[in-house]
Amino acid sequence: MPCNYLNININYHPFGTEMSGRRLLSVKAKYGYQGSLKDNEISGEGNDYTTHFRALDTRLGKWFSMDPVNHAWVSPYISMGGNPIMFSDKIGDDLDVGKSKESKSDIKSLAKTENQKFINIDETTGKVTVDFGTMTKDDINKILKKDEGLNLVNDLVTSNKKFYYSAAEVEGFGNELGTVTPKFLGKDPNGIINASDNGKDSNGSNAFLPKKGYNGQVVISNEGHFEEPDKNTGSMLIKRRSSLVFHELAENYERTNNGADYNGNKTNGGFGAHYKANQRESNWWNKSNNPGVANYISGPDKTLSYKDLYIKYQTQIEEILK
Ligand SMILES: [Zn+2]
Repeated sequence: MPCNYLNININYHPFGTEMSGRRLLSVKAKYGYQGSLKDNEISGEGNDYTTHFRALDTRLGKWFSMDPVNHAWVSPYISMGGNPIMFSDKIGDDLDVGKSKESKSDIKSLAKTENQKFINIDETTGKVTVDFGTMTKDDINKILKKDEGLNLVNDLVTSNKKFYYSAAEVEGFGNELGTVTPKFLGKDPNGIINASDNGKDSNGSNAFLPKKGYNGQVVISNEGHFEEPDKNTGSMLIKRRSSLVFHELAENYERTNNGADYNGNKTNGGFGAHYKANQRESNWWNKSNNPGVANYISGPDKTLSYKDLYIKYQTQIEEILK
């Protein structure tokens, strides 16, 4: 049966439904199911659901991004299922952000102002979800098509890989042994660290590995700013921060999710993650004149010694190391 109208109650975990036999999903389709049915009636429709879902685009998972963990009422259902929730990592919570308010506003700044309401960031956990409420798949598609920034956040949130983003002056990174070390962003020439456990970085290696529990990690100095030459006059202009956030996250997504190296490789038609991120930014409403380039970084900590940095960021460092 073709699905012409799918109305998803976003608060519910769709695939939990079939396992637990509880009503976690409301599907309104042309075959007349109208919701507000009792449990027994819904159980009767269970097979229909299953078939229905199998017929749908596998990208359907993208439209569900509410993190079930954030809802107290979900837990009993999960434990009742006695089964790891299928596809749960496609449905959300695959992007976490750091504690700073800049970390949160950076992620929101990727979407158009009117679309920022779709991005939810849990205050305590930093988990990012994209919630389209009961919108139809067609309507969601239209919004994503017109907002590459929101589309990127949606990609990160719905990926099978786990991403971490923070705006910070000091952040933790892993090494091959799984040891996490604090890095000072002000000491990085670009004030940016882009770490992945998959596609290679600009040095053809994975010099920085994401911290434990993540496959990709991007950190951008929160106190620094970036400048680029004006297209016409050549004078230095302060670069939009959101453009850097877009580029670095898009590049990390290409590496981490798609296995692309920073530079081109055979598996992606010779185009590397950096190039692909720039290409993607060309579709973005807030694109930079010079995507992906941080010509100059200025930050108050650039001149501080390591000793002073350790003193200044002691609390954050202790948190990273604990
Ligand atoms: Zn790049």
